[in-house]
Amino acid sequence: MKILDKSYDPKPVEERWSRFWLEEGLFTPEVPSTKPKFSLVLPPPNVTGSLHMGHALCFTLPDIISRWKRMKGYNVLWLPGTDHASIAVHNVIEQGLKEKGLTRDQLGREEFLKIAWDWKQKYGGIITGQLKKLGCSLDWSRERFTMDEGFSRAVRLVFVSLYREGLIYRDYYLVNRCPRCNTVLSDIEIEHKELQGKLYYIKYPLFEGEGEVVVATTRPETMLGDTAVAVHPDDPRFRGFHGKFLRLPLVGRRIPVITDHRVEKDFGTGAVKVTPAHDPVDFELGKLHGLEQVIVIDGTGKMTEAAGPDFRGLDRFEARRRVVERLREQGSLLKIEDYPHMVGHHDRCKTVIEPHLSWQWFVKMAPLAKEAIRVVEDGTIQFIPANWAKSYFEWMYNIHDWCISRQLWWGHRIPAWYCRSCGEIIVAMETPAHCPKCGGIDLVQDEDVLDTWFSSALWPFGTMGWPEKTVDLEMFYPTDLMGTAFDIIFFWVARMIMMGLKFMGGIPFRQVFINGLVRDFRRRKMSKSEGNIIDPLEMIEKYGTDALRFTMAAMAIPGMDLSLSEERMMGYRAFVNKIWNASRFVLMNLEDAPAAVAENELTLADRWIRSRLAGITADVETALGEYKFYEAAEKIYHFVWHEFCDWYIEMCKPSLQAGNRTTKAVLAGALDHILKLLNPFMPFVTEEIWSHLPGHGRSLVMAPFPQSDPAHLDRHAEEEMSLLQQLVVEARTIRAENKISPQKRVTILLKAPGEKEKAFIPEIRAYFLALANGSEVRVEDRFAPEARLLKGVAGSWEVAIAMEGASDLEAERVRLEKEIKKMEAEIEKLEGRLGKKEFLERAPAAVIAEAKQSLLACRDKKEKLQKSLGNIKA
Ligand SMILES: [Zn+2]
Ligand SMILES: [Zn+2]
Repeated sequence: MKILDKSYDPKPVEERWSRFWLEEGLFTPEVPSTKPKFSLVLPPPNVTGSLHMGHALCFTLPDIISRWKRMKGYNVLWLPGTDHASIAVHNVIEQGLKEKGLTRDQLGREEFLKIAWDWKQKYGGIITGQLKKLGCSLDWSRERFTMDEGFSRAVRLVFVSLYREGLIYRDYYLVNRCPRCNTVLSDIEIEHKELQGKLYYIKYPLFEGEGEVVVATTRPETMLGDTAVAVHPDDPRFRGFHGKFLRLPLVGRRIPVITDHRVEKDFGTGAVKVTPAHDPVDFELGKLHGLEQVIVIDGTGKMTEAAGPDFRGLDRFEARRRVVERLREQGSLLKIEDYPHMVGHHDRCKTVIEPHLSWQWFVKMAPLAKEAIRVVEDGTIQFIPANWAKSYFEWMYNIHDWCISRQLWWGHRIPAWYCRSCGEIIVAMETPAHCPKCGGIDLVQDEDVLDTWFSSALWPFGTMGWPEKTVDLEMFYPTDLMGTAFDIIFFWVARMIMMGLKFMGGIPFRQVFINGLVRDFRRRKMSKSEGNIIDPLEMIEKYGTDALRFTMAAMAIPGMDLSLSEERMMGYRAFVNKIWNASRFVLMNLEDAPAAVAENELTLADRWIRSRLAGITADVETALGEYKFYEAAEKIYHFVWHEFCDWYIEMCKPSLQAGNRTTKAVLAGALDHILKLLNPFMPFVTEEIWSHLPGHGRSLVMAPFPQSDPAHLDRHAEEEMSLLQQLVVEARTIRAENKISPQKRVTILLKAPGEKEKAFIPEIRAYFLALANGSEVRVEDRFAPEARLLKGVAGSWEVAIAMEGASDLEAERVRLEKEIKKMEAEIEKLEGRLGKKEFLERAPAAVIAEAKQSLLACRDKKEKLQKSLGNIKA
């Protein structure tokens, strides 16, 4: 028999089993297979990523499901990979260049991409290694990267197909641009935050004649690009100005006053300046009214030539200061008011977005959204919790076209070429040799790359070899589960659904499990600046992976954020130790345990634990089936710690000493069963212990998940055990309260609520005596009044310990009297304090409340002591 080490050291065990699972290829599914399949392809983490608590949660929960399904006999594929993350990689590389005094433009595209690939080769695998550490049962033999060759082909094919169908188009359009990252962004990458801004009132004089219109704006620097002033047609204040022209201050441009129903009469003065090149509403107005688009700020946030000699080259915020100063000098500035308002920021770098007019590529979303809405509405795809479907619909019904071009180099370059001779746009899979329209060969490829999310949207089928008709696609698509956080329902989930439907002709996944966010124990968001980040790798180092995984599961309540603390992790580390120690005890007692159980030799404890195992297994299966990880974890935790370790093992000890071989068989079976139940949650420690069990298999990864055996359910045994537990707990409480030494054996009296209940006693008598350390137990119809008893209540039963010989009565009497005196002194002190008028008037309310509370507690304690003393004196 192999014996476990005295204490559990997670590190060497985790390293050894991680290696074993991968070397043996245990996470690689069978192809072909007669088993039912279960597949998942989760959103790939960024190559720049390093494991944080969000990942730890997002990956642990699906791993629990995957391991569970594998044990249940499914052919499981969980396909891993990483995302090339254009903006994040640019940030890393460009930061490095900046430190050397270089920019990417100085380097050039080719050189830059070489550095980026080198970087990816060196550091891009960090998160992959960390996921292995977390024990995720991913099939690494199928690992993909969004920029690998096959995937890149898939991306190009999708672009070309959508373009040919008219679902991708190029347009000169006002888009969101991050001047810091130097690229355009899609709407959902913008974070709207309230800023304490100002509202500037500027006077625009009539071009001819007397009079002026005052406009209000939060961005005075854009006035340099104004090409009109708009008023509401029904606003009587401006009736005289319709069709007139104004002179734009600082610039001198002649601009019309236009009327439009969209102008908000209540904003500012009711007249608004119109800057079609720098504001989305103005952009639309400009198109409708045929206004000129004057670009005064470029994509990097600097003022252009068109801003005029006084301002060109200035940063946009410096320009604002200068414009206001000049307006004031000229007497054109009427007033400035404080004005809090919402401003869009780039969600990654927090820079204020600049609306920017430029040629970009777009995906027409409404036609794609239609089918994607239907499959969620009719339940083909199910959100868990269900209320997330509402957010999904809201977004899908109001979907805008998606700007997919990015002014970056790292990524999938747009497969579009421009003919310099005739202006033709050629969109193709391969670089065209000549222009199909004019035959010219002076072709130049679009400089931009695709939004990273464009390729992520193809992940569920692109990873399985699409557009080839592969065995993997046939066997594993659609996948069964998508797990992610709510903040990327639109980035990922929605777009994956649209693209899956479009190109595979079917949904990419059946269920979408949305997990909460991981917060600190005060429910605050974890952030570097708050210093409240809990690092999963540090937790693994300190408490082991199993403790971290179990914490995640135990806290994962659907629809709720997790408030995480290190204490929880410590608690589950103690749980791991408890399992280890209990297993160690069991393994030391399994010598010559028979393989089969002799049913007629089962003790009450044996029958009870088998019944409870059947119950708990059914509970765990139900909870996991509904993604109620917390419920499954909680039930197992309680069962293993309290029922198996605290009760069953204790109750086994006399049988084991007596050499009861049936108990040995039940004990061995129960441990095997428990290790299997726990394995999806704690794969390492369970695998290690299991490998010490007699007759263990190759690995728990492939072991069958235990079944709930209805033949083992035994209500009678559970009722008896429940009574036994209540009686033992009460007897132990009485002993503790009366300071009876645990070694002291006492006479215990029980009063049953009725005849039926009395029948339980013969079967539980031996256990009761052992567990409550009684010399004898007597069941009486009523306790004799003259008997000197320490009494207590257990449910509808009464429990009493005879005092003779239970404790040193005289010493106890002295102790109690001393304690009572102490309480009396304390009560007097508190009453005195609370009786003083000035204390009640001057002391803070909290102090008074505390004193009152203490007084009540002291009185209560005194009463209890007196009762105990009365018992003795009787
Ligand atoms: Zn940015
Ligand atoms: Zn041409």
